Amino acid sequence: MTQEEKNRVFKAALGKYGAAYRLDLLVEELAELIVEIRHYQRGRGDWDSLAEETADVQIMLEQMPLILASPTPEPDNFTPAVKYFYDKKLARLERQVFDDE
Ligand SMILES: [Mg+2]
Repeated sequence: MTQEEKNRVFKAALGKYGAAYRLDLLVEELAELIVEIRHYQRGRGDWDSLAEETADVQIMLEQMPLILASPTPEPDNFTPAVKYFYDKKLARLERQVFDDE
């Protein structure tokens, strides 16, 4: 599915269910992933369930810019902000793991 096709689906979901519900669903999906990770850590995880919950969270996270811009569409400042922190934290991780070498 192209990004354009995904955005079409995400916008339709937002229009059909509303921003508050989509944020509730994001929280629920995060909780489900947490549960699956805990099961995995305890040796009784199910690989398919872990993959499924990871996909659920990824799909919800991709909708965050649209959800946060609702109901009043505004310039998307969220995506660049996420990118800023993503790059900053990835660089920090890189320093943490390689600076001792
Ligand atoms: Mg789920």
